[in-house]
Formats: sequence, C-alpha cells, structure tokens
Amino acid sequence: MSQPAAIRIRDLVKRYAPAGPRENGGEGKLALKGVSFDVPQGEIFGLLGPNGAGKSTLINILAGLVMKTSGTAEIWGFDIDSDPRNAKRAIGIVPQEIVFDPFFTPVEVLDIQAGLYGVPKAARRSLELLGQVHLSDKANAYARTLSGGMKRRLLIAKALVHQPPVIVLDEPTAGVDVELRRQLWELVSELNAQGVTVVLTTHYLEEAEQLCQRIAIINHGELIANKPTRELVEMAREKVVVVTVDKTIETCPSHAAFLKCEQAGELTLEITYDKDKTNAGEVLSLVQSMGFAIVDVSTREADLEDVFVSLTSS
Ligand code: ADP
Repeated sequence: MSQPAAIRIRDLVKRYAPAGPRENGGEGKLALKGVSFDVPQGEIFGLLGPNGAGKSTLINILAGLVMKTSGTAEIWGFDIDSDPRNAKRAIGIVPQEIVFDPFFTPVEVLDIQAGLYGVPKAARRSLELLGQVHLSDKANAYARTLSGGMKRRLLIAKALVHQPPVIVLDEPTAGVDVELRRQLWELVSELNAQGVTVVLTTHYLEEAEQLCQRIAIINHGELIANKPTRELVEMAREKVVVVTVDKTIETCPSHAAFLKCEQAGELTLEITYDKDKTNAGEVLSLVQSMGFAIVDVSTREADLEDVFVSLTSS
C-alpha cells in the first residue's frame, strides 16, 4: 500500500471577508482559488510565490489560524475539519516572527510549549531538542540574550516539542545574513535526514533550489507549478552564451536563432537562445560566419529564477 501524503490539499479556497462594503465589490479578497497538491512524506518541499500569492494564508489554514472557505486539507492522514486534534499534533509550525518571552530560558520555553501540547513531564525532551538545534550550551541563558540565529533555532525546537512528523517553516531565512542562512539550511537538512518532512515557504529562489526536492509555485492564489526541483529548473528554455571576440563590436549581430543579443563590453556579446531549438555550437558558428573571430566563450545556465520569472510574470 502506498504511504499517505504528509499533507494533502484539495480545492482549497479562501475568501477573506471584505474590510468594508466597497472592497472588491463587497466580495472580499479571494486569496486561494482552489489549490490542490500533495506534500510527499520525507521530503523538503518548497512553497514559492511572490508577495501576496497566498502562501501565508495556506500555512495558516494548516496551522488552524485561518478558517478556509471550502476545500479539504489533511495532515498525516488527519482531516483538519473532522480530526483537528490529531491534525494539529501532526504538524509543527515555525513562524516568521520571533515570539517568546525574553525572560524565559530556552529550556523553559520548550517545557512550557510541551505543557501546552499536553506532553507529560517524563516524556519531555527539552534538553535533547536543544542539542538537536545546537543550543545545548544556552539551555539556561535568558532568551533575550540569544543572537538572532539562536532565537530562530529555538523557534524550530519549539515547533518540535510534540514530535510532529511534519514541520512548516514560514520564510525561515527572511532578513538573515548569508552565514546564518547556511547554518539554518544545514539544520533543516539534518532534521529532514532524521525523518521529519519539511515544508518551507520562501521567496529566496536559491534557498528552494538548494534545499527542496520538490517545489510548488503559487501566484495570485493559484498553483502554477508543482514539480521535482530538477524538472522545474529544466523548464528554463533560455540559455545564454557569452562570447568575447577579437575586434570592437559596432552593432550587435542579429539572427532568427538568437532570442536576444546584447553587448556586454567592447569585445563581449551575450547571446540568449532557446535550448530546444538550437545549441551553443550553432550560436558560435553563426557568430563566426558574421565575421567575428572568437577569443573566449562561457555559458550561463538557466536557473530557477528564470523559470520563476517566466511563470509568474503573467
Ligand atoms: P503571501 O504569504 O504569499 O505573501 P498572503 O497569504 O499573506 O500571501 O496574502 C494573500 C492575499 O490575501 C493578499 O492579497 C493579501 O492582501 C490578502 N490577505 C491576507 N490576509 C488577509 C486578511 N486577514 N484579510 C484580508 N485579506 C488578507
């Protein structure tokens, strides 16, 4: 028998009540327009989309903080309507903002959270969890003395007190410096290697590309892609070849096979082509046939950003 999905979402619709009688003709904002997808067990799943796409709305529905208008959602096989208790126990949410009382110590923060979930004292794993997020040496420090990175790691530990099989991280590295971002990526990968299914929302494409096995993209409340990361990146059809030639370029050469040709320096051209229609070799022969001798060549691979821009620009 196949495993159930870690999260199963079908036809999810959310219409926020109008703030006033005139907002959107009195209809309110349609933030999710019938979204369906599965998060497979054991993966790191990226939920990507520009600001206002509906990501937080979706996460907040799963967290039980926003009421959906229609559709269904199951977490680890538990329906959020008919089995909200088990659904809630199956998921840990790491919010974007840092929220805990600055006068508690990390170990107290985790004990209190475990209490909220009804985890019996004997089953609490606060110290073990602090070890998991590399905060053992701060167990008894005041939370307000922790660095920004440590606070974020404490938030992750807090989401894990009831040992949920799925955790959701909402923009885990927003406003975080590069070093700290890498540390958080490592931590997320470690948790995943220990068997936790991870869903993360992000607008850092590099983050999604590095960490996630699968990526769903939402835009204007609609799911516009849901694919393994490799396949999604493969969808970028445009490639760029950068050519250095031996003489000053007067005008950029043009040809039907070039989607775009731009001068990037006195002797350098950047030519964009469709990899399904031609290849770098043909582009170079065309440049040569136009009277240029080629001195140097490099290519730029398309990345997730190219796909994201082309999918969300409509
Ligand atoms: P994202 O997290 O992708 O930035 P959101 O889910 O926050 O997107 O927002 C989706 C849409 O719903 C946006 O147009 C936003 O303005 C609207 N929205 C979000 N929260 C509310 C709310 N509480 N009331 C009314 N509209 C909202």
